[in-house]
Amino acid sequence: MAAGKKIYLDYQATTPVDARVGKAMSDWDERSFANPHVNDYMAGIDAGNAVNKARREVAKAVGAVSGSITFTSGATEANNLAVFGVARAASKGRKRVITLASEHKSILEPVRALKKEGFEAVVIPVGRSGLVNIDKLSAAIDRNTLLVSVMHVNNETGVVQPLAEIADLCHKAGALFHSDCAQSLGKIPLDVRKIGVDLMTLSSHKAYGPKGIGALYVRPRPKVPIQPLVLGGGQERGLRSGTLPVPLCVGFGEACRIARADLPKDMKRIGQLAGMLIEGIRQAHPKARLNGSEEQRAPGSFSVCLEGALGEQYLQAFEGLQLSTGSACTSASTKASSVLKSYGLSNAQADSSLRIGIGRFTTEEEIRRAITIIQSGIRKLRIRA
Ligand code: PMP
Repeated sequence: MAAGKKIYLDYQATTPVDARVGKAMSDWDERSFANPHVNDYMAGIDAGNAVNKARREVAKAVGAVSGSITFTSGATEANNLAVFGVARAASKGRKRVITLASEHKSILEPVRALKKEGFEAVVIPVGRSGLVNIDKLSAAIDRNTLLVSVMHVNNETGVVQPLAEIADLCHKAGALFHSDCAQSLGKIPLDVRKIGVDLMTLSSHKAYGPKGIGALYVRPRPKVPIQPLVLGGGQERGLRSGTLPVPLCVGFGEACRIARADLPKDMKRIGQLAGMLIEGIRQAHPKARLNGSEEQRAPGSFSVCLEGALGEQYLQAFEGLQLSTGSACTSASTKASSVLKSYGLSNAQADSSLRIGIGRFTTEEEIRRAITIIQSGIRKLRIRA
């Protein structure tokens, strides 16, 4: 990004489309507009092949087979499909669905809505670390538990949950385990086999792909019982009807290919830049505190509490930076972040927090400029830390 341009520090809200992804999509656009579900002529078959190639790339990025990947419009739809789809396929028996208070709204709302369908929704609190309390979770999982949903990387704090341990607990009790991995694809290693997850949500626009597409991984063997939410022509093996948007699939596939290839290099570079930025913030505001665990965290994502002024005041004082006070999904409301509240922060502490996200296209020069802007902004606000 050139000097003078605003510095983007909101990689959790969305990521820029990688130029290699843009090229793959426009190359496809120029080539064909055919419906990928038509097998009667070559252009349709060609489009279908492009979708399948993309599906293989998405699958490979998470160590899965391509038949286990269902394309959706994004992570919100994939989360809804996981929760409602599994609940409606469970005709009798297990009625308890468990999640954490720090989850994204696209999990919390469907889980709460299941109460109207006769399910028991259990929302477990988390503490200051933001990490799941294994004892509380384990006490909540019983023989009546159908599904447990715990996200991988938190979208506000970057805290990483111990998924394999949670999967183990679930399976011992015969429950299914779903994880919202929208913020981990392309950010930290992700493998359905290593985690032992039954269902996994992915989003393209959080991983340098286009907006409007995501996926749900559904374990094929033993097959996870799941019902579709969108009925129609029976595309996606009957799990999600509707014509697939080929350029979006192609872009998502390319984003996943790059995620695999670039992950080690991205993680190292982004981790170093985040370290520089956190150090710069701490120099300006010695009482600056990261929200949630400092150790169990994705490299480029953190939330910092800067007591002494409100998040909005910092945003105004940090002219030239694009960052947010909390999740984009709730930023239309003025309520304190529900994630930070679930970590036990007071309203005042949550209101004094900023979410910062850096990523593949953040440069060292931008981080240096961001530190200068933050340091002079904090001086202007005359915060005596
Ligand atoms: N889950 C998490 C953890 C997210 O961060 C987001 C995006 N804010 C979503 C789900 C929803 O993603 P999408 O925009 O792809 O629907």
